[in-house]
Amino acid sequence: AATLIDGRAVAQRVREQVAADVAVFTAETGDQPGLATVLVGDDPASAVYVANKRRACVAAGIADLHAHLPADVSQDELVAHIQKLNADPQVSGILLQLPVPAHLDANLLVELISPDKDVDGLTAVSAGRLAQGVPGLRPCTPSGVIELLDHHDVELQGAEAVIVGRSDLVGKPLIHLLLQRNATVTVCHSRTRDLPAVARRADVLVAAVGVPRLIGADAVKPGATVIDVGINRLEEGLVGDVDFDAVREVAGLITPVPGGVGPMTIALLLRNTLTAARLQRGL
Ligand code: NAD
Repeated sequence: AATLIDGRAVAQRVREQVAADVAVFTAETGDQPGLATVLVGDDPASAVYVANKRRACVAAGIADLHAHLPADVSQDELVAHIQKLNADPQVSGILLQLPVPAHLDANLLVELISPDKDVDGLTAVSAGRLAQGVPGLRPCTPSGVIELLDHHDVELQGAEAVIVGRSDLVGKPLIHLLLQRNATVTVCHSRTRDLPAVARRADVLVAAVGVPRLIGADAVKPGATVIDVGINRLEEGLVGDVDFDAVREVAGLITPVPGGVGPMTIALLLRNTLTAARLQRGL
């Protein structure tokens, strides 16, 4: 059976390293990095996500600069708020928690965020910097995938990497992150003709789809590394996009859900906030 990748343990190590690096940064510059979270409205899931991010900031020595705006806030008020954060030197990173209420234009609001403060890596400028391989802020979840692979010394150079899913948040950024490591990258999506046949080529298979247990044992090459980004809430609990019980018999390394990629996202958000603070000082 496959070796399990312990995302909680790797995330904890990343968080400890970020905390140590933040302490050095603060001692050297006299400035504490700060993350400005923006929560709009009262969606309970979003409130929990933001609370977790804020707690993680405090634990890492990052200033917790939070704003909670009412669900009926106008687009203009939110634009003004983001512009104020862009101009505030105490603010290293800006995180607009999505989704925002339907009367707001989420795309326009995200694009307003200064690229050097875009800790979610979601703006067009951040996507362009990633595609061109120049310094910038990378989306947290795909960076967390690379971090897990590196932690387990998974060889990427020359490897066949297959990504299932092409979202702007996960699948597409992973294309570039894996290309930069000299993997041979294939992307599958909902129109892919024979998904198991393509996926079976993979030395490294990443599933980011949102379909419970889409990836079965027939889609996995023996010994492959399987990274499951999917988080699907079923009555039985959280399950990934990979049929874990079947695939673990075939794979060499595999992430569980929960406890795999999930915990990495916040850890990389903290690292991005420190990176943002450095970018703003030209470091
Ligand atoms: P998305 O819905 O934006 O994109 C899904 C992608 O999967 C699309 O590109 C689509 O073409 C592809 N797809 C859909 N059905 C398919 C099929 N039957 N076969 C092959 N491809 C198919 O999703 P997303 O934002 O990338 O998220 C994917 C999953 O990852 C979700 O379960 C989400 O909850 C999870 N997720 C987890 C984290 C985390 O761990 N922190 C972060 C982001 C997303």
